[in-house]
Amino acid sequence: MKTILTGIRINSEITLGNFLGALLPMVRLANKYSETHHINIFIPDLHSIISSIDGDLKQNTIRELKYYLAAGLKINSNIHIYRQSYIPAHSELCWILDCYTSMGEALRMTQYKEKSQNNDSSTNVGIFNYPILMAADILLYDANFVPVGEDQFQHLELTRNIAERFNRKYGEIFTIPEKTADQVKFMETLNNTFSNRDKDTPSGLRIRDLQNPEKKMSKSSDSDNSKIMMSDTPAQAAKKIMSATTDSLANINFDFQNQPGISNLLQIEALLSDQPLATVIKKWSNQSRYGDFKKQVASTVSDFLSDFQTKADSISDQTILDLLAEGEAYATQKANQTLLKVQKSIGLR
Ligand code: ATP
Ligand code: MG
Repeated sequence: MKTILTGIRINSEITLGNFLGALLPMVRLANKYSETHHINIFIPDLHSIISSIDGDLKQNTIRELKYYLAAGLKINSNIHIYRQSYIPAHSELCWILDCYTSMGEALRMTQYKEKSQNNDSSTNVGIFNYPILMAADILLYDANFVPVGEDQFQHLELTRNIAERFNRKYGEIFTIPEKTADQVKFMETLNNTFSNRDKDTPSGLRIRDLQNPEKKMSKSSDSDNSKIMMSDTPAQAAKKIMSATTDSLANINFDFQNQPGISNLLQIEALLSDQPLATVIKKWSNQSRYGDFKKQVASTVSDFLSDFQTKADSISDQTILDLLAEGEAYATQKANQTLLKVQKSIGLR
């Protein structure tokens, strides 16, 4: 049985953009493939401590996993949810792989180059080592598919290179993850028809900043009105939609080039009301009254949030802790098995 592996970072509360662009597609993917694949959903808490954390990592984890269940994730015995730091084999394999990775290839990682160029004193060694920990995350579980955005393709290729080199030296120890191009083909099974494609999100969907719709919505944005958080009260969220930046054309069109604010709202309306985008566009196109349209979107967003939050709140912490305990038992066993093979092959055992 093949394995699909995905990590969910829980450094802070998530936005509606993260929800629609990352969480929901992951839930759909898991529900689609969990009869025939292992689905590993892990919390990369060791990756989290590379940068600052808003709130409490343990509580953030529980809250976000409630969101997965509230979004419809169907649990079965092929779905394994675990925290990275609870499986010591991740750190151990990372160290071993460090010793089989050249400085040259690690220094070539674009993300490291970008993140380290500004300020040497704020760049920790974790930022440099992160792709090797990611390789361990993938290789411990014989993962075949790792849905990520284009910003992670280089790390995926590094993982393949390290694993292939290791296998050439020691025999068939690691499962090599699929080539990036094949991963992309696989991920396309998730893709929606939205023409607002973002290469950095696994789903290709990009929700825009409400105040500055040229940019994508980001949780690190300083302006509260720019982003809808999944914990916003329905009334707060509705207000943010009503004050979203649009344009002065007084004509509703789906056209991200010229009317990014309006197009973003059309897209949000379609996604949250579960209607095809074409239906929503047809209903509103060429109308001039932005106020009526915004009221509709505001009401869709607030209804959605109120329903979603009620669902999430009805899930107990214990339900999540039980899921994690099950997932961590599975992951420990699987990861230790791979680690032992590696340790034996290089002569540590
Ligand atoms: P930051 O501002 O800290 O970069 P972010 O909101 O961009 O935060 P990330 O942690 O970078 O969020 O990404 C989490 C996931 O959400 C990724 O899979 C990313 O591709 C996706 N994502 C982020 N922003 C959007 C968005 N505006 N629309 C759709 N998907 C998004
Ligand atoms: Mg980001």
